[in-house]
Amino acid sequence: MKTIIEPFKIKMVEPLKLTTVEQREQALRKAHFNLFQIPAEDVIIDLLTDSGTSAMSADQWAGMIRGDESYAGARSWFHFENVLRDLTGMAHILPTHQGRASERILFELTGGPGKVIPSNNHFDTTRANIEHSGARAVDLVIAEGTDPRNRHPFKGNIDVAKLESLIEEIGSERIPLCMATVTNNSGGGQPVSLANLRAVREVCHRHGIPLFLDACRFAENAALIQQREPGQSGRSARAIAREMFDLADGATISAKKDGLVNIGGVLLMRNDALALRANDLLILTEGFVTYGGLAGRDLEAMAQGFVEVLDEDYLQYRLRSVAYLGEHLLAAGIPIVEPPGGHAIYIDAASFCTHIPPRHFPGQALVCALYRHAGIRGVEIGSVMFHSVDPDTGETVHPPMELVRLALPRRVYTQSHIDYTVEAMIELAAQRDSIRGLRIVESPPTLRHFTAKFTEID
Ligand SMILES: *Cc1c(COP(=O)(O)O)cnc(C)c1O
Repeated sequence: MKTIIEPFKIKMVEPLKLTTVEQREQALRKAHFNLFQIPAEDVIIDLLTDSGTSAMSADQWAGMIRGDESYAGARSWFHFENVLRDLTGMAHILPTHQGRASERILFELTGGPGKVIPSNNHFDTTRANIEHSGARAVDLVIAEGTDPRNRHPFKGNIDVAKLESLIEEIGSERIPLCMATVTNNSGGGQPVSLANLRAVREVCHRHGIPLFLDACRFAENAALIQQREPGQSGRSARAIAREMFDLADGATISAKKDGLVNIGGVLLMRNDALALRANDLLILTEGFVTYGGLAGRDLEAMAQGFVEVLDEDYLQYRLRSVAYLGEHLLAAGIPIVEPPGGHAIYIDAASFCTHIPPRHFPGQALVCALYRHAGIRGVEIGSVMFHSVDPDTGETVHPPMELVRLALPRRVYTQSHIDYTVEAMIELAAQRDSIRGLRIVESPPTLRHFTAKFTEID
């Protein structure tokens, strides 16, 4: 059969409130054209993020009832530890409440002034935790990774030559570890190949630098390797994921993505001395080493989620639904970051709204138009989110791309929800000239995309 179906059936439903254009216009004005300020109840299809928004399975919910809430050495902890050890082969497994808690512990121990941490593209909380420690975060993604039309199969790869020259330039003593983000979220959810991970590991180990994965979407990365990397199509996603972890000395994971849970995280490492110190910090701020800021039931849900996410039928459906959205937009002439990656489609808003210059926020304007037209919530990744000012000239610096991200929560929406999204985008494209740019009327000094207020330009 050609049709790839959702490999699950639904036994519990949450109603969606089907609002009218007039109701959404009102909500939009009340929120000052900032979709973070709109109550989720007033959103029909919420594509704001794939983080913590997964639907759990019956087996995960059953695990939550079975959760052992003992303080130390709970049965749920041993279940979780066994699953993670089997999946990753790592010696030390530390549970945390979410990904950034793993990052904070790792960089408090390895970062600090004078240190430099390279990655393909650091995710924003990773970068923030590195910089908070006083260290510098450097992005070394391959050149193809920043060109939206380039259809390179592994646009998340690290530029190995750039990594070598960085090490040569500053010396390996200043590089406590190298990270590889799989998939590369900030770079469009694009995968990293096994060949690239092997090459990066070889360079790192020749210089005595540990390699860590930011492995939030390890399963989607493994499935994209299976689809796209020569010689990998006959292997299971589980075997490929294990090889990815085998190439690394440690990993940070937010289980809110491929853990298929609403909260949870993991910190993994092989080095015994580092793990001892990490356990001390874990106890200091997260909790005892056998629960790490989570309930026993959360550990059960994660243990089951990390097994289900490697199901081949699930992964095929998952990648297919993202590609389906991307292909239909492309077929309608709507410009997106190509090829579709693992968890989201990124619309090139600068090309969609050529009449709106970056200073009038084409991405934010498109996000508002899509909400008003169809009740769909996406997120701007452009001049609103990545606002910076040149320290010398005082002029605003715009990021290289003005994007709108439509992230797909896992197992939440069906094909008709995606068809509706495609239809909405096609209708919007037909009336794109009526989309109006925006002006900021009020904005905080940092992370302004969450709270800034806008007004429409006539
Ligand atoms: C979400 C995410 C994180 C941070 O995880 P949280 O659970 O949100 O703290 C880190 N890295 C990447 C690549 C992510 O997508």
